[in-house]
Formats: sequence, structure tokens, C-alpha cells
Amino acid sequence: MVNEESIQYFGKNQKLYIDREIGNGAQGTVFLAHFNQHQFALKLYKKTPSLTFVSNLINTTATVSPSDVFIWPKQVVNLSDGNVGYLMPLIPANYTPIIAILNGKRHFSNFQTMLMWCINVIHAMKKLHQKGLCFRDLNEGGFFADIFTGDARICDCDNIAPHNVKLEILGKMKYMAPEVILKKKMPNLYSDYYSLAILLFQVLTNGHPMMGARIANYEIIDERGEYVLFAVEPVFVYHKTNTINRPIPGYHDVVIERWRLLPKHVQEAFHQVFVDGIYDDKKRLSDQDWLSVFIQFYNDLLQCDECGFEFTRANIPHCPKCGACIPKRLILSIKSSRVVLEKGKMVIVDCDVDRPLGFVIANKIDPSILGMRNTSNEIWKSQVENVKAKDYSHGQVLPFQKYMKIQFGNQEYGKIE
Ligand SMILES: [Zn+2]
Repeated sequence: MVNEESIQYFGKNQKLYIDREIGNGAQGTVFLAHFNQHQFALKLYKKTPSLTFVSNLINTTATVSPSDVFIWPKQVVNLSDGNVGYLMPLIPANYTPIIAILNGKRHFSNFQTMLMWCINVIHAMKKLHQKGLCFRDLNEGGFFADIFTGDARICDCDNIAPHNVKLEILGKMKYMAPEVILKKKMPNLYSDYYSLAILLFQVLTNGHPMMGARIANYEIIDERGEYVLFAVEPVFVYHKTNTINRPIPGYHDVVIERWRLLPKHVQEAFHQVFVDGIYDDKKRLSDQDWLSVFIQFYNDLLQCDECGFEFTRANIPHCPKCGACIPKRLILSIKSSRVVLEKGKMVIVDCDVDRPLGFVIANKIDPSILGMRNTSNEIWKSQVENVKAKDYSHGQVLPFQKYMKIQFGNQEYGKIE
């Protein structure tokens, strides 16, 4: 129930009902709010923000969100009691804070879904950057996941601003690029790339790329410790030549195990950001680079039939977990993409995340037979030598078969190997 005290006014006598608290962070408190017969999340700042900040936030509300993934600010409110904040959509109830996943309290339904979440986050960041905007305060607190589909939501979008705008927001030390911590540069596109790499590393390995053996030098990692570990003398835990900061066996076992199973090209990508790009921001992987890295990882992923463990083959004939022999998988080659066909996998061609080709499904009677439902409005044609070509229209399932050629619509030709 809404009581009288919870009524606030802003603008030209617009009435807002402030309900219960639903979140609390360093910058502000988030409440459930009712406005114009709709429910919103209302973030109220603990400290009155500067005019520059508010003016930028007003500009953000006037900008169309680059992706549905962002919980985009809708309206700035200057309340009658002097508080300042903004209204945004509520995060749907089926989304889990990524912090709960990093803490091990919740898990993605499988590794494939986790990679899809990473792809969705990278893709949203790419669209944001393409609009000339940068996120600035990228940290785990703003990220949410549908653990069953890999869909993503990103909140805390109030610090988003054009690349050249200077805001007082620097970020959370654990995610900040060294040049921002050292106050040599304000957050920009390249520091966003760095923070994104930190988030991806944490989701994949459950550890921080700069927190290895050197944490033993500190009783507690306070701000001074973070300043040294993340900015003054950052050493990547898997630096190829400087091994002083390796993860500690018995303490960082999850990182050690997960890193070992990462494909070489993913390890190299992290090395490039956290070693070559540590002080040279132009050497960091861009969002487009990360998209290619993660889509290749996702396309290569397969699952052990015996124990369900997910991994990429990289010339190993056996499951790295249970040792079971892994039969050869069908592979769909189309344009520059090679997709290991696995049940539940989205077929993404040439990093076109907005227009996946389809979704791999297993036959209900014989799950070893895989196929793809045509959800497009184009005709798919399958061709196998000495067999009459067959058409598949919208809603029909095309069963994959070795050496099959597939024409998707008018242009795209795929080949099954
Ligand atoms: Zn296995």
C-alpha cells in the first residue's frame, strides 16, 4: 500500500509514489516507484550530483537505447524534497544478478548459455560504442543474466556519456583501467574495453586477472592494495614470462582449472589485453574483437555424451573430465563460420548476433539426429549427392546429414562436414 508520505512531486506537479527499497549501491538507493500507472525503478542519489552529471543524464533519457539489453534511464526527477534521481524500467524477475553467479550462489544452466550471455553483453557494448557513447562505470553490480537462455540486462546506465564528455565518475577500482586509477585519463572507449575484459575474465574463470600469488603480500586488500595490484604494478596472473602472480593452488583452484580448459585463442586474447594492452590502451581488444573471440569459442563448443561436460575439442579425442571417447561431430561451414552442431546451439554466422540463422534441435525419437527449424521466411534447400533436393519452408525442420549442402534463401550456402 502507498501511504501519503511516499507521495512525491517533480516537474510540473507530476505525482510519483515511492514504494519499497529494492537495491542499494555506493552512488544511490533504488526504490520501486509508481508513475502514470506504471511501475518503475527509481534511483535516488545519496549525494546531490553535479549539474554536468544531471545535464548528461537528461541527454541520455532523450537518446534511444542502443539495445534492449540496457535498462535505459527514462526520466530524470528532481523531487519536491530536494532529492534527485531517475526512473528506469524494472529488471524482469527472471534475471539473476551476475554477482550471485560470481559468488557461486547461482549458476548458468550450462556453459553454452554462459557463453551466449557473454556474447549478448559484448554485442550490447558494441552497439553502445557505435553510437559514440561509453559506459564508464562497467562493474559486476550492473549486470544480470537469464541463466536458462543467456539473455542479458545491464543497469546503472546513468554514467553513460559521449566519448568526449568529462564526468566525475571514475568507476570501481577492481574494473578500472590503470590509466584511470592513476588519474592520467578519464574513462573512455579504451577503458571500457579494459573493464569489459575484466568482466569476461571473471565470468569465465571466477577469478580476477590481477589477483594471484601477490595478494599474499597483503593482510587485507584495501584501496592501497588495489591501487598497487591494479594500477601501479599490475601483473596478469597468466603472464607468459613474469610468473610472480600465478593463481595460488588450493586457493584459486577454480581459476586454475577453468583457465586450463580455455581455448588457446581465448587465452591469447586475455594476454593481449592484460599484458600488451595494460598501459597501451590501443592494443586492447575492441568489442568487435571480443565478439569474434567468443563466437568462435561458442561455435567450437561441444558436450560429452557420457558426463555432459562442455569443452572445445582442439585435437583431443577424449572428454577432459571423464575420459569418454567423443565421436566426431557434424560441422556446418557457412561464410567465414564453422559451427560444431550441438543441441541447443544458436547458429550465428559472421558475428551477426541480431540475425541468427537458427537454433539446433535434436530429434525427439533419436536425439543423435540433429536439425534446425526454419524460423525465417525464406526457403531452405538441402542437397545430398544422388538424392533429390528438398525444400524446407517456415516452421519445418531440416535434418542435418554428413556431406549435405544447404542453400539458405537466395544467397547463403552452407556445407555439412
Ligand atoms: Zn565426459
